[in-house]
Amino acid sequence: MAGAFLKEQSLGRILAGHPWVYSSDVLKVEKAPEDGGEILVRTPDGGYVGNGFYNSKSRIPIRILSRSKEKLDADFFRRRILEARTLRADPELPNACRLVWSEADFLPGLVVDRYDDALVMQTLTLAMDQRKDEIAGVLREVFNSELIVERNDVTSRQFEGLTSRKGVLLGDAKMAKRAITLGRAKFEVDLLEGQKTGSYLDQIGHHMMVGARCTGRRVLDCFTYHGGFALHAALGGATVVEALDISEDAITACRRNAELNGVTNIKWKAANVFDELNARLRAKESFDLVVLDPPSFTKSRAKLPEALRGYKEIHLRALKLLSPGGLLATFCCSHHVDAETFRAVALDAAFDARKILRLRQTFSQPPDHPVIPSIPETEYLKGFLFQVV
Ligand code: SAH
Repeated sequence: MAGAFLKEQSLGRILAGHPWVYSSDVLKVEKAPEDGGEILVRTPDGGYVGNGFYNSKSRIPIRILSRSKEKLDADFFRRRILEARTLRADPELPNACRLVWSEADFLPGLVVDRYDDALVMQTLTLAMDQRKDEIAGVLREVFNSELIVERNDVTSRQFEGLTSRKGVLLGDAKMAKRAITLGRAKFEVDLLEGQKTGSYLDQIGHHMMVGARCTGRRVLDCFTYHGGFALHAALGGATVVEALDISEDAITACRRNAELNGVTNIKWKAANVFDELNARLRAKESFDLVVLDPPSFTKSRAKLPEALRGYKEIHLRALKLLSPGGLLATFCCSHHVDAETFRAVALDAAFDARKILRLRQTFSQPPDHPVIPSIPETEYLKGFLFQVV
């Protein structure tokens, strides 16, 4: 089989478990395979490191999938997918969760989300994309799925020479719009048109935890998307809830979701959170619990200072809006901002707002988004529940 020999200085990271082999890690490639084909990864003197997939056009020409000399065929995918399912079936498989998460499940380039009996798949590397139908076949067999949707409308695919696409791989496209229970609330999701694969599955547990703190409180949910925190706040006994998102479509979906849950005490508004928080401050409004769950303000390390200014700004405004004893549930989904940095930003904002914070709870990634510490890119979601004292 084709083989790639690694440079001595690159061995440590890769032997520790990181699956990415950059061009600069490679000493030489012998008998290079076709793009998308299998390749053996070796130490500089020829020792075995792993079996991977090759794409000469990528910045990361090799991704390692196995470290035990197995063929990367349909049986391999079945074994890995079953392992991923076992990991999440503790004690039982959630009706909605991320079933396969790329590097964190040792299947770099493959993402699979479950929405009841429907699956949404992303194949983000050339090799995974070439094996899309084979993998869909395994998924259908393992999960007995009625619908498998492909959400390959992801910009990162361009780095692999792939185009953007979405569609139905199995089943009837009409079933892509569906009602589903996520946590304690019902949602209408659209697996073909929604953001990400239809929902933010990584926040379901946090919706429930924060919702449980909302009894008797006036709540403001910023960056609500389809109302995850707002609906759980209302169901958790909040007196009034206001929720903001810049997307009109998202707010329309929120209104339908409120109806679906028989909830009537939420005021939805399509607005820019930065401006809206200022307007509320000017109007001298106050809330007892504010949720901040913005999109990632940076996808690159280069933009970090700018992103941190953005995070600080929303914290400053949110903290000023809180009543004495009020709670701030704040989340950050940027891989480039680690938990310590994020906490420091909140603290910095609290200093400027002349508020002292008590840390009530720390949030991290749920079990269906596992972290592999030797693959730092698998760690991204962090959050805190602060109380102003
Ligand atoms: N809180 C949601 C997920 C939020 S995702 C949940 O738990 O499911 C981030 C959301 O922020 C997106 O819906 C996006 O439309 C919205 N958004 C992005 N920039 C914004 C801004 N400046 N003001 C308001 N909403 C914004």
